[in-house]
Amino acid sequence: MILILKPEVTTDDPAFLSLNHYLETQEGITVQSHSIEGKERRLTELYLLGATARLDIETLQHFEAVDRVIRVSEEYRILGRHSDPDRTSGFEYQGLQFDQSSFHVFAGLCAVDNREHVELMMRGLRSAGQHCARMGAYKPRTNPYAFQGHGATCLPYVFELAGKYDIKVIAMEVTHEDHIEEIQAALELTGHPTGVMLQIGTRNTQNFELLKCVGRQSSFPILFKRGFGVSLNESLNAAEYLASEGNSNVIFCLRGMKTEGGAPHRNLVDFAQVPLVKRLTRMPVCVDPSHSVGDRGRSPEGILEIAHAAAQGVVAGANLVLVDFHPNPAEALVDGPQALLMRELEPFIEDMSRTHAFYRERVAIWTDQLIDA
Ligand code: PEP
Ligand code: MN
Repeated sequence: MILILKPEVTTDDPAFLSLNHYLETQEGITVQSHSIEGKERRLTELYLLGATARLDIETLQHFEAVDRVIRVSEEYRILGRHSDPDRTSGFEYQGLQFDQSSFHVFAGLCAVDNREHVELMMRGLRSAGQHCARMGAYKPRTNPYAFQGHGATCLPYVFELAGKYDIKVIAMEVTHEDHIEEIQAALELTGHPTGVMLQIGTRNTQNFELLKCVGRQSSFPILFKRGFGVSLNESLNAAEYLASEGNSNVIFCLRGMKTEGGAPHRNLVDFAQVPLVKRLTRMPVCVDPSHSVGDRGRSPEGILEIAHAAAQGVVAGANLVLVDFHPNPAEALVDGPQALLMRELEPFIEDMSRTHAFYRERVAIWTDQLIDA
């Protein structure tokens, strides 16, 4: 159950204190407070967890501090949409807005290999007018003998170079709770030249203890990847672990499903689910065409299949695109075959921004239709 407080109510208000006192006396109920972006201003929502079936909506509605009470379905309590149009999505980070209307491309290295490649990538992104990047320092690999990423040792130069080229947010996978502290320490060491979005990889979708740790920190937003072998419902519930621990600044990323049905692509592209995730939840939705398609193939008219797949997600309303590039894919230590070339960066960005503009035109077509109906 969610109690949305009246906008003017503060936590030292007698109206709030009397509500709080009442809630404290209810057995089996725990209360979590979340500050969310309302249509006009920030709102405080109290999430009542536990034995909420016993609570009486009428009684709660009568408290002076309460604007309205929403009984939510069991699933995705915090991240779910729950058919309340006043609950908007999203958050601001590093001066950039992330919500179900915004649009950003996170292009970059699947794995950081050396300083020179990081610099070439960052420079290329800046000349393409970009403020976000992807950079992998911790790589979960199928083969234990494969390159595992440079880890904490590369973080200082990655962050410094991001700052030098005005990159404001880097998406970076973490595979262990210690990595959060390492990232925090490297940002402090370098004077916070950039921001980080913590990525949960598809292999860790249901690593609930990692999710709890990542959800407990509030310094970084989270880019959560759907599990490649579990249902969408299971992945959305897993994302909810982050929010249930306190961090609801979560972006949900579709990245393809592991099945022979997708071959010879690396995974079966699942971007038809972009609108579905937006309907079921308030999360901004990301698509990762690189790990879905898995190679630099082109269709006969010359368009990269990775760009085709990305466009499918964007034309359906995706809010982010996470995509692998590399200055010299032959030298890449991870996922070289799917890394796009630097000369493909500008056309890729151009394709995505025009596709996003076309998505907005599609929205207008259907909005008019609704008004006419
Ligand atoms: C990645 O983005 O580098 C990655 C490993 O992705 P996934 O977890 O989707 O395989
Ligand atoms: Mn990869």
